[in-house]
Amino acid sequence: MSRTLQAPVTVAFDYTRSTGPVIGRFLTGLRDGHVVGGRTSAGAVVVPPLEFDPVTHEPTTDFVEVSSVGTVTSWTWVPEPVKDQPFDRPFAFALVTLDGADVPFLHALDVSSPDEVTTGMRVRVRWAAERTGHINDIACFEPVAALDEVEGGAGGPDRARPQPRNEAATEQSRSGDVPAAPVTGVVTRVSLDYDYAASPEESLFYRGLNEGRIMGQRCPTCQKVYIPPRSACPADGTPTEEEVELSQTGTVTTFCIVNVPFLGQKITPPYVSAYVLLDGADIAVLHLILGVPADEVRMGMRVKAVWKPRDEWTFSLENIDHFAPTGEPDAEFDTYKQHL
Ligand SMILES: [Zn+2]
Repeated sequence: MSRTLQAPVTVAFDYTRSTGPVIGRFLTGLRDGHVVGGRTSAGAVVVPPLEFDPVTHEPTTDFVEVSSVGTVTSWTWVPEPVKDQPFDRPFAFALVTLDGADVPFLHALDVSSPDEVTTGMRVRVRWAAERTGHINDIACFEPVAALDEVEGGAGGPDRARPQPRNEAATEQSRSGDVPAAPVTGVVTRVSLDYDYAASPEESLFYRGLNEGRIMGQRCPTCQKVYIPPRSACPADGTPTEEEVELSQTGTVTTFCIVNVPFLGQKITPPYVSAYVLLDGADIAVLHLILGVPADEVRMGMRVKAVWKPRDEWTFSLENIDHFAPTGEPDAEFDTYKQHL
């Protein structure tokens, strides 16, 4: 058995933002199959449009539909894409100046080798099959063959339409006489994967949980007991070595009633999240209080750990499903006031 534990961890949330009138107009355009830029006071067409003019600081109000065909001005090769990039195979990121725009715009370019990319090459938007008012409505750019350029003419409004070969997108732009509502918001999933390496002391704690025990460590200098153990006493810095198995019962010090739903929530509100000071510990742990109506939970309430069925145990504090009242009389405030 290795000395320490480690585990993959993902931290994620949905980031919801309102787009405002300018970016909202750009995203509405993408959903409807065309690319919208904004004209600055200096006359430059910028894609996506700037919310405010860089010189006058006035809101952008002059919008211009640009072509979906453009020219690569710079690019970089991505030999090993990471999760959530536009492709799971090698591809290029390219700065593309669309015809009718004055500054380039960053997006993925679908080519199979860096030998197929050159600065100055002509590319066009490949529309996503389903468009929702998001930057990913442009699936990527793809090379324009020389013949396509001749057949497609010298540019103009037709260029700004979805490619006809994209049946779904074409159908969407035709469907119904009532225009869809403008895009006013976007939801972006923000996610970070990492490997968490537990310290030897934390590993003791998690291994204990895997055996149905709650392990802490005592500081040899001040005698305080910490859970989870922290390798060194946060108060005086002394390394901690003495292992202490803590009681399964404790006292609610402070708590909050959770009334608001949020992403990833496992219990329907209202429920109580509380700091529980286990008997023998000098620092409280945060956990759920169940088995009692939320409005009856109080400071000083005596509670005990309720474990999940043994076959569900992992190396996690979630092995303890929740804490529930023991029915004992409440603890006196003086017994836990130092631990709030
Ligand atoms: Zn200490």
